[in-house]
Amino acid sequence: MHNQSTIPTIQYGAFSQRLYEQAAAHQSVIKAQLELTYRCNLHCRHCYTDPYNSKDFFPRELTLDEIHRLLDEMQQVGIVWLNLTGGDIFMHPQFFEIYEAAYRKGFLLQLYTNGTLFTKATIERLQQMPPFTIDISCHSVTASLSSRVRTPKRCASVMGTGLTAMVTSARRRRCCWMKGP
Ligand code: SF4
Repeated sequence: MHNQSTIPTIQYGAFSQRLYEQAAAHQSVIKAQLELTYRCNLHCRHCYTDPYNSKDFFPRELTLDEIHRLLDEMQQVGIVWLNLTGGDIFMHPQFFEIYEAAYRKGFLLQLYTNGTLFTKATIERLQQMPPFTIDISCHSVTASLSSRVRTPKRCASVMGTGLTAMVTSARRRRCCWMKGP
């Protein structure tokens, strides 16, 4: 029996399975993807947004008001998992305003990024309101192969630097949790 002030815990797998089953039974949508921007600091051969990654197309992106309205509507229809993508999300000039508004609404946020734009400031800000997942696109296992798909060619090493900073920061944070305040 649970204390009245205690919320019972549930394993993530059981939680998500239950939600998917309920959504299927009610034919409701619980997962959404929002493409915030065409902007990206890289160019990949296969990219479907790359042809729009130019100043001519930026005025056609969703405005901040439109994005806030979409977040409201997604919350109202019961979206649980919200994937934010681009282009690269960190190229959006108001990314953190959007991200933090979505976080406050309670979505489980999944971030898609090319992984080359992590800075100390970005990592620290994400740690204040951690996303559910971060997916980093990596198109090959070697830098030379990557450079055949992506430009600029040195982006694989930049991505490595960003990833190292993320992992180091996450480890440090975990150590702090283990040590306690
Ligand atoms: S990193 Fe992603 S968004 Fe950017 S050009 Fe490549 S595939 Fe497109």
